[in-house]
Amino acid sequence: NNERMPFASAQIGKSFRNEISPRAGLLRVREFTMAEIEHYVHPDRKDHPRFKEIADIVFNFLPRSVQLEGSSTPVQISVGEAVASGMVNNETLGYFLARTAQFLWKIGIKKDLVRFRQHLPNEMAHYASDCWDAEIKNSYGWIECVGCADRAAYDLSMHTKSTGERLVVRERLTEPKQVTRKKLSVNKKDVGMAFKKDSKSIVELLENLSLEDAERLMATSQDGVVKVQVADSTFDLKTPSMVNLEEVTETLHVNEYIPSVIEPSFGIGRIMYSLLEHCYYQREGDEQRAVLSFPACIAPVKCLVAPLSQQDEFRPFNQTVLKALRRRGVSSQIDESAATIGKRYARNDEVGIPFGVTVDFQTVKDNTVTIRERDSTQQVRVPISEVADI
Ligand code: AMP
Repeated sequence: NNERMPFASAQIGKSFRNEISPRAGLLRVREFTMAEIEHYVHPDRKDHPRFKEIADIVFNFLPRSVQLEGSSTPVQISVGEAVASGMVNNETLGYFLARTAQFLWKIGIKKDLVRFRQHLPNEMAHYASDCWDAEIKNSYGWIECVGCADRAAYDLSMHTKSTGERLVVRERLTEPKQVTRKKLSVNKKDVGMAFKKDSKSIVELLENLSLEDAERLMATSQDGVVKVQVADSTFDLKTPSMVNLEEVTETLHVNEYIPSVIEPSFGIGRIMYSLLEHCYYQREGDEQRAVLSFPACIAPVKCLVAPLSQQDEFRPFNQTVLKALRRRGVSSQIDESAATIGKRYARNDEVGIPFGVTVDFQTVKDNTVTIRERDSTQQVRVPISEVADI
């Protein structure tokens, strides 16, 4: 990212949990699909450049304070207020909460069945600054579907600790800065003379010690000697002549820091399951007529083409409509069966296809078709040439 912050990555893949009792279908499984974003920010500057765009969005918060009172009545305020009052730790976290809400609503999760619950101090990892779960209500109760955590510098520091790879951001300072810090200095010449062929590994080990480990080593010093172990051998190094912990003053031109990470993670199975429940309903007065009201943006098939008759003269019109839809990337399918049009619409509704195009006797005369919208069952007649656009 040209060494600039923020920096983010997103990925989707398999996650694993050692669940003792997998249950409830897709809700608690040992292997599931997770989609997550790792959004890295400066540890002291967690404002978000696009926060203004979402600051007015209002949703249900269940903050720590409400839960500790034993209540589950959500607080309905805007995310802007939630961040300004300190309820949500920072703008970037607030931004992702709002975008998560928008995403869930857009795919068809019902607004009043989503809430954001803040982790209680005993639920939160010790390193986290703040953590909120998007919970969706389904027939199993309120289920955690998206976790949104500010994990601070934990993951990168742990990675550095085990691999030795420094995962830092270098920020050029506008004015150089003087800093005093402790540093382990190694006298390579003396170490070389004393330990010959082993000196290279000894120096390498000492130079790669973290400050913490260096302090620990120097604390073991006895009678001016510290013992350093390399592979199976132990070497006695003189202090302070060979190795010493010194205070050094340096002029810094670059500021180095480990970024914090804000991580929204989406459990796809849980979201899909909740979505199926939220989208399923039966048409009033008719238990037979089930509907899956998938919004068009996520319906696997967007449009059904249903000719009123199987006559040959309808076929070219069916094909024109299908071709136009295909060219626009609108996934569609045709139902040319002999079932009544009502039955075909019902089948269409049951699998969640949002639109139906009917080719009928008028089509043959004037090149128009009807488009039916699944949820309202309303129909409009339009020229074939406009179908794909609509
Ligand atoms: P976590 O990182 O543990 O907060 O998990 C992130 C998301 O993965 C959660 O919000 C859930 O949606 C989902 N998830 C966690 N554990 C399971 C599980 N055992 N089965 C299905 N989804 C899960």
